[in-house]
Amino acid sequence: MPTMADGPEELARLLAAADHAIALTGAGISTESGIPDFRSPTGVWQRFDPMEVASMSTFMADPARFWAFHRPRYDLLAGVEPNAAHRAMAELQRRGVIRSLITQNIDRLHARAGSEGVVEVHGSMSHGECLRCGGRIGIEDLMARADAAEDGVPRCEACDFQMKSAVIMFGEALPSAAITAAFDAADRADLILVVGSSLQVAPVSELPGLVRRRGGRIAILTEGDTPYDDVADLRLRGRAGDQLTEALTALDRLTE
Ligand code: NAD
Repeated sequence: MPTMADGPEELARLLAAADHAIALTGAGISTESGIPDFRSPTGVWQRFDPMEVASMSTFMADPARFWAFHRPRYDLLAGVEPNAAHRAMAELQRRGVIRSLITQNIDRLHARAGSEGVVEVHGSMSHGECLRCGGRIGIEDLMARADAAEDGVPRCEACDFQMKSAVIMFGEALPSAAITAAFDAADRADLILVVGSSLQVAPVSELPGLVRRRGGRIAILTEGDTPYDDVADLRLRGRAGDQLTEALTALDRLTE
């Protein structure tokens, strides 16, 4: 059971007391920027079957259907800005309070808010890639090729295979360097702060358990439920932007 009263002041106290705090973020940290998450009542999964639209099998068998879903999504992602929660997370990193920032998000908003060395465990929309010949192109070029193609499918100039972004799809291997970095960080951590994740997606969902088994603490700031709610040392349920901004202010008071 959570042992502390729920509130951003307690989060500040936990962060101040930690020697090696890390953070794990998910789609919920970006909803205040206007990007729907997956599993909320207003999330993407209410309208689409993810196994169909975000899977390698659709990419391979029906790239036009795959791109018909993904192309407008990139316009949405390109038109948003980092929010107060991304900025607070960057500030916590700058101060050395958060040592590693691991994200399941592919939207690049942490980096745009000033975070450095973000561990992107589900890939990112940073560039396009060809899975056949290994060719890489910028994300704008990828979208321009999709727009120019009659069937909406961008193709590799070198080998003509259909291209995708570097976002990891269902049925695709996770980026091994990022997964190793995430588990190494959890191995060293004495506190993990989870923000905006339902902690449903393995293997990243195992990180809080790993920190806990090593004697570390778990703080969760997420509106919906997670499998760790009963064992978390701190459980916050407000909006990420408000709660993290308040935690930063409380941290200022503690360190004055
Ligand atoms: P999820 O959709 O499963 O869970 C999001 C959680 O955040 C929910 O519990 C929700 O209640 C909570 N939440 C929503 N808005 C919040 C807010 N303002 N403050 C605090 N909590 C809030 O997301 P997940 O755990 O990240 O896992 C799903 C997968 O979704 C990941 O693989 C990720 O790559 C992908 N995804 C990413 C983006 C993005 O990059 N922005 C968007 C949608 C999905």
